[in-house]
Amino acid sequence: MIVVLVETEESGASVVSQEALTFVRTIPGAEVHAVVVGAADATLRAQLAEQGVTAIHCLVGDSFTAYAAAAWAAALVEVVSTASATAVVAAGTPRGNEILAHVATRLDVAMAANVIAVDAVDPLVVSRQVVGGSALEEMRLGDTVAVFTVAGHAVDPAPAPSPTQPEVVQAEPTVSADDLRARVVRTEERESADTGSLTSARVVVGAGRGVGGADGFDDLVELTELLGGALGVSRVVTSLGWRPHHEQVGQTGSRVAPDVYIPCGISGAIQHWAGCQSAKTILAINTDAEAPMVTKAHYAVVGDLHEVVPAINAELRKRLG
Ligand SMILES: Cc1cc2nc3c(=O)[nH]c(=O)nc-3n(C[C@H](O)[C@H](O)[C@H](O)COP(=O)(O)OP(=O)(O)OC[C@H]3O[C@@H](n4cnc5c(N)ncnc54)[C@H](O)[C@@H]3O)c2cc1C
Repeated sequence: MIVVLVETEESGASVVSQEALTFVRTIPGAEVHAVVVGAADATLRAQLAEQGVTAIHCLVGDSFTAYAAAAWAAALVEVVSTASATAVVAAGTPRGNEILAHVATRLDVAMAANVIAVDAVDPLVVSRQVVGGSALEEMRLGDTVAVFTVAGHAVDPAPAPSPTQPEVVQAEPTVSADDLRARVVRTEERESADTGSLTSARVVVGAGRGVGGADGFDDLVELTELLGGALGVSRVVTSLGWRPHHEQVGQTGSRVAPDVYIPCGISGAIQHWAGCQSAKTILAINTDAEAPMVTKAHYAVVGDLHEVVPAINAELRKRLG
């Protein structure tokens, strides 16, 4: 039996968690239990039923009102032990990777982060992305409990062949004070406008130094909105303070894997490429025909982004009515 930690948002299970649930079904014969923090409302229960989950463990109580990686890991370990799970899985998000690293340490087993494929079962052998996604590593998870996270967009979320009627189990695990020492005590609104969720967006518009300054992003933000995507930027852009750090794509930012990535005024340095190379289609806009991003892209427009992007926006506005 496999336990999957499901991250939730307003609309229910996050897309990447639904991907993780779909992914674990590639392991033959796997019965899947979900662990969620807080109650499971009707929408979430329906989503998890559609994913073929047979039981939902809801972590409730004062220890779970705010994010605390060690506490959430302690609870997961308790569920793994009571349900006699053979694997514990999460989406390869910052939280998923952090919590499962704690889980692996507590169980004294190996952990594989950012898995993209199951190559063999018994013992479980997986392929995972390493070096910022530039290389693949085969890893054997031969411990009694396999612990791994699933890389974003490793699979498309898809319903199970037949939906289930999951049993809902309220769990109030005991959490020690030590496990609550590092926890979220305050959250702040982002300063900039919301430009979409980078890691789950199907379209990402990229912006680099070629934008020219902090006041040069309006057309790119409009393109992002017209395409219903997210804005991602290069490190130069965040280092210069033109855009906030949470929008950075690359080795030291977010790794994205959208259907379409549109890098504008980004040269394509290896550290940026590490974060965007999993995009299915790359359309570069750059004045330099020799820039690595242009030579590696599937399609490129060689030109000034301040001329090209407004022209695309005008055409999109016309088509969208
Ligand atoms: C340890 C380490 C970690 C790093 N991590 C990251 C990371 O996570 N993410 C990241 O992005 N970088 C990272 N970097 C930095 C990386 O090496 C590059 O410096 C950075 O990606 C370059 O950003 P850029 O492409 O925006 O700028 P540049 O390299 O300066 O490229 C600007 C591009 O814009 C084009 N251009 C100029 N004007 C226009 C115009 N009007 N219209 C269209 N195109 C135009 C130019 O032709 C050029 O190709 C890291 C570096 C190190 C050392």
